[in-house]
Formats: sequence, structure tokens, C-alpha cells
Amino acid sequence: MGDNCISIVPKDVDSSEVKILAERIFKWLTGNKIVNDVESDCVLNLKGFLPGSNYKYAVEDSDIQLLNLVNNGVEIITERQVWQGVGIDKVSCASCNFDITESDWMDLVEKWFYGVESCEMTCPSCNSIAPITDFNFEPVWAFAELGISFWNWPPLKKEFIDEVEEVINKKVKIVYGRI
Ligand SMILES: [Zn+2]
Repeated sequence: MGDNCISIVPKDVDSSEVKILAERIFKWLTGNKIVNDVESDCVLNLKGFLPGSNYKYAVEDSDIQLLNLVNNGVEIITERQVWQGVGIDKVSCASCNFDITESDWMDLVEKWFYGVESCEMTCPSCNSIAPITDFNFEPVWAFAELGISFWNWPPLKKEFIDEVEEVINKKVKIVYGRI
């Protein structure tokens, strides 16, 4: 049995904003008792924040036995990460929707991750040039320096996600991962 991970990954976050936004989201999550404010071992041998007494505020299915799970923490990640969806069905150009799934996009993702080389790709169809991180991934992947990962939590409520967007004043992507 694997572990599911739902991640909220804000879009268009500048490096200089990462720490400020992470602090703001942490204060909001703990202030509303959605997560505890003390770190503990609850994320795959790593430290994270346990569900708080009001965690049901964030989720659609309140019957799930979230509190009985070993890995049920929330991580606030403030370093460059590729948030992968479960597998990849399609990678396509954001301008013309041309399918580049069979190209070497994974090499460009690695270049982005290590941040040492350009990760731009020229679309073979419309010739637009864009970083691989701007292409459309199905299922959703995200590339960012800030994200909030909920381990084994049930689906998050749309209203909760909307509130997170308001708190940090950014649009977000939702990534459904599994390891
Ligand atoms: Zn294109």
C-alpha cells in the first residue's frame, strides 16, 4: 500500500517571497487548528505537522480515519521541487496544445531542478519558446520552490483551497501524487 499526497503549489512565486508566504500559510493553518504547530514524525520518516483539532475544515470526507494513520502529516516545503502527479499521460504546449510527450522533456525538467542550465523548449508545431515548467502536464505536475503537501489526507475542499489562495494572494495548482 502506497502513500497518497495532495499538494497545494502556488503559482508565480518569486524566490524572495517563498519564506514570507510559507510563514503566512503556516500561521493561517495553525491559527485555524487545521494542523498542529509542533513538528513531529508523521511524514514518511520525516518531520511534519500533524492534523489539528479542526482538520475536517479542510477536507471533503470527514469519515476517513486520518488520525489513525502513521503518515498523516503536512509538510511546508520551501525549496525547489518537482511535484509529480501519478504518472504522465500527456505533456503539451501551452500555446497550441501540441503533444510533446514523446520528446526529451524529462531532461529539461532535470535542468530546471538543478537550475544550472536553460530548460527552455521550442515547440515543434508553433515555434513558441517556453520553459518546460510552463508546458501543460496531465495529470497535473508543478514546479516551484514552495508547496504544501498533505500526506494521506482525503480530497481537500474547494472552499479551503480558495481560502489558501486568498491568504497568500496567489493562484495555486493541486497535485495528486502517490509514492
Ligand atoms: Zn506550440
